[in-house]
Amino acid sequence: MHLPFCARRCPYCDFPTAHLDAGREARYLDALAREARDRLPPGWRARTVFFGGGTPLELTTPGIERLVEIFSGRIARGAEVTAEANPRTLLARKLRALRDGLGLCRLSLGAQSFRPRLLAALGRFHRPEDVRKAVAVARAEGVRSLNLDLIFAIPGQRPSELEEDLDALLSLRPDHVSAYCLTVEEGTAYGRSAAAGRLRLPSDGVQARYFARVRCRLRAAGFQHYEISNFARPGHRCRHNQRTWRNHPYYGLGNGAASHVAGVRMRNHPELDAYVEAVETGGGEAAVAEREELPFARKVRETAYLALRTSEGLVRARFLRELGVDPERFFARELARLRAQGLLVDKPGRVHLSGRGVRFADAVAVELL
Ligand code: SF4
Repeated sequence: MHLPFCARRCPYCDFPTAHLDAGREARYLDALAREARDRLPPGWRARTVFFGGGTPLELTTPGIERLVEIFSGRIARGAEVTAEANPRTLLARKLRALRDGLGLCRLSLGAQSFRPRLLAALGRFHRPEDVRKAVAVARAEGVRSLNLDLIFAIPGQRPSELEEDLDALLSLRPDHVSAYCLTVEEGTAYGRSAAAGRLRLPSDGVQARYFARVRCRLRAAGFQHYEISNFARPGHRCRHNQRTWRNHPYYGLGNGAASHVAGVRMRNHPELDAYVEAVETGGGEAAVAEREELPFARKVRETAYLALRTSEGLVRARFLRELGVDPERFFARELARLRAQGLLVDKPGRVHLSGRGVRFADAVAVELL
């Protein structure tokens, strides 16, 4: 569920976001309600839900209440329900409304760094102490699983600063960590700065070293590295993302949201106003701007690539059962090349990325896709 509102746009962000005003919020939520009514099958209930965006908890309190009204009755009992929040603006009463109304049990906080200098470089307006307060609020409100996002290889970040970020992050005892190397996307403020020569990312070697440190420190603290960017304490893996990495179907609602239903990939209008107008005039189905039926071979390739991003890797029996294809035959040449480069590790019935494979995951993607 895409809730596009953010208090301020981060310079590295390429998601469709918007400033919040009450009129805009009400129209957007009306469109979201219509899309949910028209696109979700009658009686269908989600087993996992991710409220992302944007910053879902940036909605006003009446907006949160409306969100609860739209989706209560659409979420199965025992579902995993996650929402993203900004540490600076998280309010206990909104969290409580989502917990009581929709069964929210996971919270993902965009901590990113604990160094004011680096937060400023990332264009974030929260302070390190806001993260500590937000974690306390989340725990007090009974959030069962808490994720902290961390960004590393920020321009100018020293190795000692990465260690301090990891110390601060671990001191908050999160259940889950999503750690991302800073990337520069076209069309963002960072992209424009990089194109003008005003921003230089650390070299590939530095990025790889920082990633190795993140991995080493989190594993030593008891986290399982279960997907390239994701680490969880036992029992805290994100079910929602695991379904996505298995290439299982999902609905995405809201502007810019992607869906994958019955072998068809769909993407909604990215611009908020275009999305709202399309739904207001054409109903919920008109939210979809692009549709693409995936050729079978592409589905097989994507499923293999997504599986290899996880620590479980490519499970031969599951692949056969779900796609009717033996990956060792379908990818005979590709797997041979990846094995020869030391990027894979063979285990009984499955194959997963080696440490080197994790480092060169982009090369694996090129090979498989
Ligand atoms: S808070 Fe997240 S979604 Fe919003 S602008 Fe920043 S990175 Fe993008």
